[in-house]
Amino acid sequence: MNNKQIEQFKSILLKSQKELVALQDASADSRAPVQLDQTSLGRVSRIDAMQQQAMAQAQERQRTGELARITQALKRIQTGDFGFCTACDEEIAPGRLQIAPSVSLCIKCAGT
Ligand SMILES: [Zn+2]
Repeated sequence: MNNKQIEQFKSILLKSQKELVALQDASADSRAPVQLDQTSLGRVSRIDAMQQQAMAQAQERQRTGELARITQALKRIQTGDFGFCTACDEEIAPGRLQIAPSVSLCIKCAGT
């Protein structure tokens, strides 16, 4: 992989990092504890609110995981390890990186 390609992946990674952080900020409200006020909400609404909160929390976990992967990928760009599998040191297929620039494993090691 040449420098130009790495720069491209770097800008993609930085862009998704920004987007994820923005989404985290935007969704902070929906993850706040559900008010379980028995009088103001019917049972169905409470269950609904809790399900929505659980969904928001699951999305948040996914975002946090992806952010961590992006941070690691940016670190690998700095150290010159980007594009290589962190398990076997083989080159990761460019097509795989294009789909998900933050992947750290080659197809073999990822087991897919
Ligand atoms: Zn590998």
